[in-house]
Amino acid sequence: MKAPADLLLLPQWVVPVESAGTDDPARACGALAEHAVVVRGGEILDVLPADAAQARYDAAQTVDLPNHALIPGLVNLHGHAAMSLLRGFADDQPLMTWLNEHIWPAEKKHVSEAFVRDGTLLAAAEMLAGGITTCNDMYFFPQTAGEAFLQAGMRATLGIIVLEFPSAYASDADDYLAKGLAMRDELKDEPLLSFTFAPHAPYTIADATFGRINTLAEQLSLPIHIHIHETANEVRDSLKQYGMRPLERLAGLGLLGPNFIGVHAIHVNDAEIDLLAQNGCHVAHCPTAGLKLGSGIAPVNRFMAAGVNFGFGTDGPASNNRLDLVAEMRLASLLAKGASGDAAALPAAAALKAATLDAACALNLDSRIGSIVPGKRADLVAVDLRALSSQPVFDPVSHLVYVAGREHVTHVWVDGKLKLNDRRLVDLDTDDLNARAHYWRTKLTA
Ligand SMILES: [Zn+2]
Repeated sequence: MKAPADLLLLPQWVVPVESAGTDDPARACGALAEHAVVVRGGEILDVLPADAAQARYDAAQTVDLPNHALIPGLVNLHGHAAMSLLRGFADDQPLMTWLNEHIWPAEKKHVSEAFVRDGTLLAAAEMLAGGITTCNDMYFFPQTAGEAFLQAGMRATLGIIVLEFPSAYASDADDYLAKGLAMRDELKDEPLLSFTFAPHAPYTIADATFGRINTLAEQLSLPIHIHIHETANEVRDSLKQYGMRPLERLAGLGLLGPNFIGVHAIHVNDAEIDLLAQNGCHVAHCPTAGLKLGSGIAPVNRFMAAGVNFGFGTDGPASNNRLDLVAEMRLASLLAKGASGDAAALPAAAALKAATLDAACALNLDSRIGSIVPGKRADLVAVDLRALSSQPVFDPVSHLVYVAGREHVTHVWVDGKLKLNDRRLVDLDTDDLNARAHYWRTKLTA
């Protein structure tokens, strides 16, 4: 008798990123031709040859994906989703001018629960349509953002954001922490949501606040998600104010460890890379944002050599201006090669792993997501490689990084539920999202 299943996916290739029961990296990163993925109860039940799957399972629904590669959902390791409403609002400015003269004043005036709800929904729609099934978010009103991610049916890690200065959301560091902890209490039983402490950056957080965050993060076993060493100025200012570089200061405060996710890490020296590696820290590499704000290029090849785990982030849509992790994979790989003079730097399989399993590992979610192996949640993305511009296909993994674009994503499942069906969003009303974006554009420019 056949075993029951909810879903039988029959792609041309399954790219599992890791394989249960084998240490063979070629098999893990390479594509399995004529294999099926079986889903039951939102979980990946089996990955096996297609013939055997059809003989063994009786699925309520079978989806043929004859020209597609099926990959794990992409994990956006750093973003500010609601800032989608500020996309293109202030471009071509260096980081501190951009923040001080444009972004922070606009946020002070306009950010509200309604702004965060509409902006997060808009970003979730963009991310899901581009194959991103999980994002690590840092923004004001995280409870509202969490509710929007749940409405979109997307997996998200919500930052308990902390700053020393007041905003429409909170008055001081204590207030940010109190509100963030209450948010976590409210949402902690939602299976699609997880949490980090998200102190904005070393230059916006005092030592005493870092101390409190560190204690709380240990008590609650939550990651700490923070921008670090983004610009050369940040490092210079820290030397002036504290007599030490930001990472040195954070190390002294006891913050570095396997629960630490440093965003950007562009201006880091070899000793700091070793420090990150020795402490098991993770990096969210945001190549487009680093280039667009003129901050620089993170030394990814040196992270790899030292054994620092990293994933990719889009950063906010105001500093990118796309939420496109397929593009970040390609750019990261090309930059790693160009910056190091080594064409073997960040090869395609490593780039795909960074965008999925390694990012999941940074979020401490790798036991649940990040690869296509039995027992993990079914966050799955189908990429159509049928286009003439994709022909011929010798190696689908190479094509996923160097050829495909997010427009080739056709189907997305989160937790086994269909979110994108033949390029159409299932749960979100795109006309409504357009109308909301237009409303905010008018308001922001009034
Ligand atoms: Zn950021």
